[in-house]
Amino acid sequence: MAADLHLHTHFSDGTFSPEELADAAHKQGLKIIALTDHDTMEGCPRAQVACENHGIEFIPATELTADCDGDEVHILGYWLDASYAPLHDALNRFQKVRQERIHQMVARLNAVDVPLKVESVLELANCQAPGRPHVARALVAGGYVRNFDQAFERYLKKGCPAWVPKDKMSAGEAVRLIHDAGGVAVLAHPGLYPRQHVVASVASVGLDGLECWHSKHSAYQASQYEKLAREMGLISTGGSDCHGRSKGQPIIGTVRIPRIHVDNLSKRRSHNML
Ligand code: AMP
Ligand code: FE
Ligand code: FE
Ligand code: ZN
Repeated sequence: MAADLHLHTHFSDGTFSPEELADAAHKQGLKIIALTDHDTMEGCPRAQVACENHGIEFIPATELTADCDGDEVHILGYWLDASYAPLHDALNRFQKVRQERIHQMVARLNAVDVPLKVESVLELANCQAPGRPHVARALVAGGYVRNFDQAFERYLKKGCPAWVPKDKMSAGEAVRLIHDAGGVAVLAHPGLYPRQHVVASVASVGLDGLECWHSKHSAYQASQYEKLAREMGLISTGGSDCHGRSKGQPIIGTVRIPRIHVDNLSKRRSHNML
C-alpha cells in the first residue's frame, strides 16, 4: 500500500506547506503521493523537490470543480503539465472566480448580521485559491460559530444564507482540459454526490479513473465503486483527501492504494496520447 493520491496544502484549503506534506508522507511510509490542491498547481514544484529528498515519487495534479447536469463534481487531473498555457489560463480564471466569491459570501454573511470582514478571510487564506473552508475558519476565529462544521451547517452549505453558486466549466470540458494538458482524469469521491447518476454521466465524457477509496467512503462503498469502475473500464484509485490540520488530526496515509493502480493510471496517460 504505497500511494495516497488526494492531498491538499496551504496553496488551497489545506494547512500543510509542501515540505510538511512530504515530511508527513515520509513518516507514513508512503512511496507515491499526488498534490491535488483546488484550482492551483503552485505547490507542486516545492512538493516535487521535498518528495525527491525523501525518495518519494511525486505526481503533479489539481482538483477541478465542474458541473454535471446542474450538480457539482470534483475532477482530479494527474501528471498535468502546469506550463501548458490553456491549463495555466484556466486555473488563473478559476482563482479569480474564487477570490470574487469570497467577497460575495462575506456580503451575504453581513446581510444576515455576521460582521465578518473580507480582509480577515483573505489574510487567513493567504493563497490564490481561497474557498469556503477559509470562510469557515474565519467564522470560527471571529467567534461567530463554535466550530468548522457549524460554519458549513449554518452558513456555507448549498442553500444556506452565505452560499454562493460558482460558475463552473462542464465535466466534459474539465476532462478535455486535463487530457490536453497531458494528464489523466479521475472522478473524486463519488460517494459524496447526492445524485449518483453523475458517476455514469461523467464516465461517459472520457474519464480515466474513479476514486473508489476515500476517507469519507465506507468499506462497502469502496467495494461497490471498485466493481463499478471495473464494469465501466475505469482505473480504481484512492486517496485520503487530507487537508492538513484544518479538520483535526491529519489523515494523510489513512487511505492508501497499491502501486499497481498508479501504474495502471499512468498507462492510460500514454494511451490517451496515441
Ligand atoms: P469550495 O471549493 O470553496 O466550494 O469549498 C469546497 C471545499 O469545502 C471542499 O473541498 C471541502 O474541503 C469543504 N467542504 C465542503 N462541504 C463541506 C461540509 N459540509 N463540511 C465541511 N467541509 C466541507
Ligand atoms: Fe478541499
Ligand atoms: Fe473534493
Ligand atoms: Zn480534495
